[in-house]
Amino acid sequence: MAFDAPLASEMEADSTGSSPDPRTLLADVWGFQDFRPGQAAIIEAILAGENVLAIMPTGAGKSLCYQLPALASPGVTVVVSPLIALMRDQVAQLTALGIEAGALNSSIDMEEYRRIMGGLRQGTLKLLYVAPERLTRPETITLLRESNITTLAIDEAHCVSQWGHDFRPEYMEIGRVREELGGVRTVAFTATADAATRDDIARRLFTEEPRMFLGGFDRPNLRLAMRPKGDTKRRILEFVAAHKGENGVIYCSSRARTEELAEALNEAGHRALPYHAGLEKGVRDANQDAFLAEDGLVVVATIAFGMGIDKPDVRFVCHWDMPKNIESYYQEIGRAGRDGLPADTLTFYGMDDVRLHSQRIEESASSDEQKRVENQKLTALLALCEAPRCRRQSLLAYFGEKAEPCGNCDLCLNGVETYDATIDAQKAMSAMARTGQRFATEHLINILVGTDTDAIRQWGHDRLPTFGVGKDRPRTVWRGIFRQLYGAGLISMDIANHGRWLITDAGKEVLGGRETIALRADVLETGRGKRERDRGERSRAAPALDLAEGDRALFDVLRGKRQELAKEAGVPAYVVFADRTLVELASHRPRTRDAMRAIHGVGQTKMARYGDAFLKVIEDAGL
Ligand code: ADP
Ligand code: ZN
Repeated sequence: MAFDAPLASEMEADSTGSSPDPRTLLADVWGFQDFRPGQAAIIEAILAGENVLAIMPTGAGKSLCYQLPALASPGVTVVVSPLIALMRDQVAQLTALGIEAGALNSSIDMEEYRRIMGGLRQGTLKLLYVAPERLTRPETITLLRESNITTLAIDEAHCVSQWGHDFRPEYMEIGRVREELGGVRTVAFTATADAATRDDIARRLFTEEPRMFLGGFDRPNLRLAMRPKGDTKRRILEFVAAHKGENGVIYCSSRARTEELAEALNEAGHRALPYHAGLEKGVRDANQDAFLAEDGLVVVATIAFGMGIDKPDVRFVCHWDMPKNIESYYQEIGRAGRDGLPADTLTFYGMDDVRLHSQRIEESASSDEQKRVENQKLTALLALCEAPRCRRQSLLAYFGEKAEPCGNCDLCLNGVETYDATIDAQKAMSAMARTGQRFATEHLINILVGTDTDAIRQWGHDRLPTFGVGKDRPRTVWRGIFRQLYGAGLISMDIANHGRWLITDAGKEVLGGRETIALRADVLETGRGKRERDRGERSRAAPALDLAEGDRALFDVLRGKRQELAKEAGVPAYVVFADRTLVELASHRPRTRDAMRAIHGVGQTKMARYGDAFLKVIEDAGL
């Protein structure tokens, strides 16, 4: 294949020795028109020699923040990254951009090892990916000391903190390595936002305060939607049907459920694969590789899947079960739409999820303090699930950002009905108060709706004035009311004592008639009573990529060409071109090389490699 453009690695410095400015590199090498929020400031700080800790949501474009400075500086940037699959993927993408990069890990062969060593010695290698356990070995440190390292970049930096959700002991050693490397400039990135983790990372990785970048949490291209469970599997099948042929991830809490759903999806004519820790390693790796390499594949996975998966063109993410906190939720749905194109998300939740997570916290939390923190985080997610206003507003508020109603969440799109639920709340809480706050949901509902069970009679609860006061409403509605009272902070769950409910101070205000409470009417029913509304749910789901009818045909041909070139080069399809590039090609239909270069994602190297092939496809399509 013709290769007439200079390699990006050769562009780092002109004859005067000064590097090209970041914007020029962005356009020439990556073919991107603009920085995403936060990127320019971070890159500027790194180029000015500062140590940086940046917290950006998944898909915000963290990699570029250290890759571009690496390219603009002499010497090599060492990237600590926890997963081999992730390193391999990044190296493939950088190579496709014409940037010399390599990964030192157990999976490389001798030839690759020699190539990396040669690049290090000659100073042409710009980025070297290393797993943390490899980094800390004495021979690696010796090697790095002999090389011209200018920056240590740490990906998934929350792994250093026990407060983070993915602690890895090897990460604890990075601070020491940094000292042994003479306190080299260090830049760390993570998507985990909370203050405790942030401070912990700063303390463990840096000896002095790093420059902190926080925010830009909005991902406006992600459509947000959350629904109470009920007939969940059928509704997920409908959701996927509306996204037929698109790449997607569906998270389930149990291994059995991933297999069951993957099978159902395959039966329904989709291509779906399960992924969970119980699969044999070979199968698991093959399924992950298939997801990275192929187009139009759905992975049904436990949360073991996805860390470090930076496939840019995932068009939907769905949760069968509720995640454990807002950080995990946002990280998981954040795997959709990294390319900035529209992507759809749908999360189901129920009180059974809350109970399960609470139990896990109870069993695994190492201190009362940690228990309290994690329970609060869980409650915050449930409150988001049942939020009465724009979800994005609630979500960003959690991360400390203000926003206008987004117009791209289920609540903005469909509106919410609320009603004055003060009397319902008082009924529920008085059932709690009159039974000494010693009972969990189902028993309390038996009291409210007047169900005569052995336990009710044994405790004499059929003689309470509250017995039967709520019989005008079905049990499912009462479950919804308990959930919302919990989300609103009026009641709290005592997990150590069989999940009994307690009335909080805020709850006492409502019980005493000094405050009122509005609850959402629309999420109170689930299951059969919801059928009507579910139909509306289905008609709104639509393919995530919005292409004109005539462009769709060309898009499909371009996709075929991409698949062919990717196969030839042995790389995932998106390494050739991202979806966004194909969408622009299909709608703008460039006919000249200049016009082609103006398309998103077409930098010099990719132009030289693939430009003519795609121009020909467009020309052959006529019009
Ligand atoms: P994360 O923050 O999760 O690590 P990545 O670094 O994987 O995200 O970036 C997500 C996607 O966004 C990638 O496909 C990347 O090419 C793309 N991207 C990054 N920066 C920009 C930009 N300035 N303009 C357009 N696309 C970008
Ligand atoms: Zn909204």
